[in-house]
Amino acid sequence: DTPKTTFKRVMLKISGEALMGDTAYGLHPPTVERIAREVQNVHDMGVEICMVIGGGNIFRGLSGSAQGMERTTADYMGMLATVMNALAMQSALEKLGVFCRVISAIRMDEVAEPYIRRRAVRHLEKKRVCIFAAGTGNPYFTTDTAATLRANEMACQAILKGTKVDGVYDKDPVTNDDAVRFERITYDDVLAKHLKVMDASAIALARDNNLPIIVFSLDEPGGFKGILAGEGTYTTVH
Ligand code: UDP
Repeated sequence: DTPKTTFKRVMLKISGEALMGDTAYGLHPPTVERIAREVQNVHDMGVEICMVIGGGNIFRGLSGSAQGMERTTADYMGMLATVMNALAMQSALEKLGVFCRVISAIRMDEVAEPYIRRRAVRHLEKKRVCIFAAGTGNPYFTTDTAATLRANEMACQAILKGTKVDGVYDKDPVTNDDAVRFERITYDDVLAKHLKVMDASAIALARDNNLPIIVFSLDEPGGFKGILAGEGTYTTVH
């Protein structure tokens, strides 16, 4: 049976690397399908879902520019990488019968809809999952900032940031046995302690609009649905 939730509309932000599975690069279709099922479970609860998927599994602007590529060109390549990931997720969701739109911040009308705020809102009202692709459409930003921007525009109640660990820790829990997870932490503490939750511009944009960020583990089966039903372990940045 379906657990209850108080959430009506949320933004799910995942990194491109979440789609890699155990591989070193690109897309791992069984992993994309597994995450699509997590999204389907939440969709079945009646929650309206926005998604932003990063592009780091394919290309990151900073690594391109470190190798001598012009930075803004490299960033546009990174944005294009997010479109590929969005299309892969759309395909996996629609295979499960979950209707979905890819909405791109950079016009490419043959592959995705352009971003028109009121149209995106309408899709959500009709229970279509909206995947916002191509980041903010601007170089020097990240998909964390894009997720925060779109979450504000779509009036989401929270950003659900799916990671490899079940919350925000005082130090890296993978390499430190004594790392302690925060139940709750303020935006300002995240910024002051330089905790790697999202980049600073995304945290500031969430703070200035009182948008909570819920950090949870995407590796935990049923995790996404659990968090929305108030179960499991996570950290709220507020
Ligand atoms: N990017 C950008 N503007 C945006 C969003 C993304 O220029 O608004 C580029 C940037 O080069 C970034 C890449 O797209 O490195 C992939 O996004 P991100 O690094 O956020 O992906 P993730 O780490 O979440 O996989």
